[in-house]
Amino acid sequence: MTFDTSLTCRECARTFDPGPLYFCEWCFGPLEVTYDYDRIAEVTTREDIEKGPPSLWRYANLLPVSRSATADLGAGLTPLIRADRLAKELGLSDLWIKNDSLNPTNSFKDRPVTVALSKAVEFGFKTVACASTGNLANSVAAHAAHAGLDSYVFVPHDIEPAKIVAAATLGKVVEVEGNYDEINRLCVELHDIYEWGFANINLRPYYAEGSKTIAFETAEQLGWELPDHVIVPVASGALLTKVKKGFDELVRIGLVSENSQVRVSGAQAEGCSPVAVAFEGGSEDIRPQKPDTIAKSLAIGDPADGYYALRAVRKSGGAVTAVTDEEIISAIRLLARTEGIFTEPAGGVTIASLIKLTSQGVVDTSERVVAYVTGHGLKTPEVVDARAVARIPANVVGFQEALGEKEEQL
Ligand SMILES: *Cc1c(COP(=O)(O)O)cnc(C)c1O
Repeated sequence: MTFDTSLTCRECARTFDPGPLYFCEWCFGPLEVTYDYDRIAEVTTREDIEKGPPSLWRYANLLPVSRSATADLGAGLTPLIRADRLAKELGLSDLWIKNDSLNPTNSFKDRPVTVALSKAVEFGFKTVACASTGNLANSVAAHAAHAGLDSYVFVPHDIEPAKIVAAATLGKVVEVEGNYDEINRLCVELHDIYEWGFANINLRPYYAEGSKTIAFETAEQLGWELPDHVIVPVASGALLTKVKKGFDELVRIGLVSENSQVRVSGAQAEGCSPVAVAFEGGSEDIRPQKPDTIAKSLAIGDPADGYYALRAVRKSGGAVTAVTDEEIISAIRLLARTEGIFTEPAGGVTIASLIKLTSQGVVDTSERVVAYVTGHGLKTPEVVDARAVARIPANVVGFQEALGEKEEQL
């Protein structure tokens, strides 16, 4: 059984019966899943959650799908690692990394997709699809295969090769000569013609709910305490908006203490920073951009949830910042060198933004900070120009000669 009651318009608050809908027929505002929180509070305990499956389905009471989800590859419950060596470099005292690159298809996208595609099966769709910057395509193709659904995933033709190979092995990739925002418009048109479940269009309210689970896990893994500050990468803004919603829900149903408050900060690449620009300009309007950055998984120039992400950040006392491609690459290297985690540019955006916000005093050095690292470095090996330190013949002398010659590098 589930505790979601309806879909509610985020603008005019009109309600609709659960279904594959995403905008309000009255005011065109986006729809959001709403729940009976009093019932959830009655039946949900920390102990039951801890005894649940070792995946995000341990939080099924706060999701619109029950624990017996059909499109389940085991997403969630990724490691939360104390990052003392990175903290020391940055002058922080209590830093943690949530390594969400260790999901079934190596990005955080498996959280929203396992929910969206389980819902697609419930709604009777036989085919699913999505507009994607790469990671969503991998995740939709994988979960569709597992659930026995047909899939078409639409991606920009110039995304990273490893993401195309993975998605094309798992499902059917359509490369489009356009950027994400153009592909998204194409998919809106296709969804009027084909009776398919689009993860980020007609299934979007359900899709977005899955992202809350990264907040739930953060609290559980910190011993049912909320962190002081989280750093969240922003593409469409859905993840950030739902991280805030997730923490608020835990307070609301009494699983964490009532006086807990989490500051939520957003991280973007300068080459695609519509939300950071609006934040810095003190504006409510997100002005679309044409993306140009190595952080291709975050390259959404016209973010669907940008306005709501901005509002969540301001309400929580956080900030949104943007970092250069050079800062992203050096942050990827720093995270690898200090903590042994190899991330794709999205994770570099998070760490570089953490560095910037710390140096600006927005992140306080005494705060307990959690940084969300959302994608794996092996998906984008071309962005870091890393090479072997030596090439040697297969004998000891060869190695010792290399050691002598290149001592400073070894
Ligand atoms: C999609 C994505 C994000 C951000 O997602 P939104 O919910 O669209 O803001 C962050 N990191 C990675 C690696 C992603 O693929």
